Amino acid sequence: MDDCIFCRIIKKEIPARILHEDEDFLVILDAFPSGLGHTLILPKRHIPDILALDGAELERLAPLIKETAGRLKDALGFDGLNVLQNNGPAAGQTVFHLHAHLIPRWEGDRVNVKWPVKKDLRDEEIDEFVRKVKF
Ligand code: 5GP
Ligand code: ZN
Repeated sequence: MDDCIFCRIIKKEIPARILHEDEDFLVILDAFPSGLGHTLILPKRHIPDILALDGAELERLAPLIKETAGRLKDALGFDGLNVLQNNGPAAGQTVFHLHAHLIPRWEGDRVNVKWPVKKDLRDEEIDEFVRKVKF
């Protein structure tokens, strides 16, 4: 994908601060971070979002998230960590090459990953939703 910024980073056409690289994944610092240590984990295969991720990739991604989280904790001693992953513009995705964010958090920092609580959901619609989705 010539116009994908992360594919270009993977191909080393543009620079990034790389924390880890293996055959399938790259772990880099976010260029516009929430704070020190804001990290992105991306598969080298260009896939847009979580729905395109295959099971084998997820099996490799999960331990990489854990390993990276441990190393960030050792290096920074953060108070907390958000692991998040945006899918689609409505969810705040701006780079359409799947990636997970690891966002170190400190008490009192002003990073905001909260949402307003929706108070007007009806019990019936929740029940119907559960019926539809339960597996
Ligand atoms: P999204 O909003 O898609 O979940 O996250 C995309 C992230 O990529 C943003 O946090 C943004 O700061 C980061 N980003 C955008 N362009 C670049 C870049 O050229 N290099 C790096 N390292 N990060 C980038
Ligand atoms: Zn890409």
